[in-house]
Amino acid sequence: MSDATAKKEERRKFQAIRGTRDLLPPETALWNRVEQTSHEVFSTFGYGEIRLPIFEQTELFARSIGIDTDVVSKEMYSWVEGWEDANFAIFREWSMKRDPESAQVLRFMGPLRASKPREKRDLGPLSQNTYMTLDGVETIARFKYRVALMDVLELQDAGMAYQQQGKAMPQLLLVTVPGTIPEGMESFAAKANVTLEKIHIDDFEPPQLLALRPEATASVCRAYIEHNMQQLPQPVKLYYTGPMFRRERPQKGRYRQFYQIGAEILGGTDAPAIDAEVIEMLMTFFDKVGLQGATLYINSIGHNAENCRRGYVAKLKSALEKVKDKLGPDSQRRIDTNPLRVLDSKLESEQPIIAKLPHIADHLCDECKTHYAAVKRQLELRGVLYQENWRLVRGLDYYMRTTFEITAPGLGSQNAVCGGGRYDGLVELLGGPPTKGIGFAIGEDRLILSLQESGKAKLAQGRDVYIAWMGERAYATAIRAAKDLRKAGFSVELPPAEQKFGKALGQADKLGAKYALILGDNEVSEALWTLKTLADGTQQKLTEPDLLQFLRNQKRVSS
Ligand code: AMP
Repeated sequence: MSDATAKKEERRKFQAIRGTRDLLPPETALWNRVEQTSHEVFSTFGYGEIRLPIFEQTELFARSIGIDTDVVSKEMYSWVEGWEDANFAIFREWSMKRDPESAQVLRFMGPLRASKPREKRDLGPLSQNTYMTLDGVETIARFKYRVALMDVLELQDAGMAYQQQGKAMPQLLLVTVPGTIPEGMESFAAKANVTLEKIHIDDFEPPQLLALRPEATASVCRAYIEHNMQQLPQPVKLYYTGPMFRRERPQKGRYRQFYQIGAEILGGTDAPAIDAEVIEMLMTFFDKVGLQGATLYINSIGHNAENCRRGYVAKLKSALEKVKDKLGPDSQRRIDTNPLRVLDSKLESEQPIIAKLPHIADHLCDECKTHYAAVKRQLELRGVLYQENWRLVRGLDYYMRTTFEITAPGLGSQNAVCGGGRYDGLVELLGGPPTKGIGFAIGEDRLILSLQESGKAKLAQGRDVYIAWMGERAYATAIRAAKDLRKAGFSVELPPAEQKFGKALGQADKLGAKYALILGDNEVSEALWTLKTLADGTQQKLTEPDLLQFLRNQKRVSS
């Protein structure tokens, strides 16, 4: 590398990763205000804050959000932990002892994947490696044994690769550590040409697939189970705030690191009043932060039974089959994978077709119908305005009955600021007891954007008081004055070096200060301080206690 290039490298500018951003003052003051309001409002409804880890096992999300969703299959930031280092060495040592000849090619293969990526590019570099080896069937076939830690799917894929080439699968030796054997592995091994050998290794920490959280409901449910919260008085009401991560295509209102404020209510009953109160709390919060033009949409998606949602989905599917050729490729695919999701489509050309599809409300069972009617009545009792939207669905089995969404103006196509719904099956799905649940997640980035667009975000920026001091004696007084004013809650700027008064006042103006406290020798010896109101240039002389009182009164008037 030439010196010049090296210098250039050195000067390389780092930038925030696409889809992430820095939040800067004064905007961060608005973020704080929004979060503070959530603490205040949610606590008046009896919710307590939960702080959760930012990464969890990938499988937690795969199970709760669903393997076939975009969020899990395409958008998660996940990685394998405990792969290369200690575990690899342990396996290598073990395999060398066992079969020195093949030890050269022995690999400790394939992490235990939680998702089912079917295409190579969906896999991390590690698994891509695995696939490359598996594709090179000849390479594998040369060896009698392979020592591998694979998962069932990889084995199945390998089997298929051999079959396609008209070859028998070679005998595989699969070494696993008890406790890490994936579901279905033993029965698969029995059928295929696979010898499963379980070895015990002290202190073995199985490799884990971890992911940055794409949302927090699953984590809240995990924590509910982990900390036996079902033993607390039910329901348990929790809320959280923090960053979430999804590898989406960035655009206005859509980021790869974004922030949510969410709440979950777990346990107890599924009384319609609970659904209505969650929504009431949400609308109270939006009102308090000053969000204008928010619209609440609600729907009921029944429950996962033949006489309710399953029956509806079957009808929807056959209606969709009839119009299949008029739909785009995404919707066509969803007819088989998840027909309800077709209703989410924003594609202009599909709108008239979707409008004619059957509505779920006509297919709800009696209990779900009654529940939905009661939720609406309860909302009315609470004075919460809503609109019904029969197309508001959630594509996962454990979601049931109430779903809701809130949109806000000023956001373009990404206009949903909040989504929520009832998910009575989720805690059980994650290994806990049957537990009722309902919750929501607010997109904080979008909420802030909407507040800014509506001009509701005008913040009193700048300082309350700028202290313009001159002279050593005055400086000592200035330090004390700054301390007392800050203690009384005022924002104070105390310049670190002496400046001429003219310059100091100019600086105060630039910082947007409301007042300049002028402290020179005269002020100190007379014990009368000069306070200049920068907006109109008026000046007054006050004793220290009077000055504090004056500022307090002014603050009360303006807030
Ligand atoms: P979801 O967890 O997908 O139900 O989303 C709940 C809310 O989070 C949405 O209504 C959005 O306001 C917000 N949200 C979801 N994904 C993003 C993203 N990539 N960027 C910004 N906000 C998002």
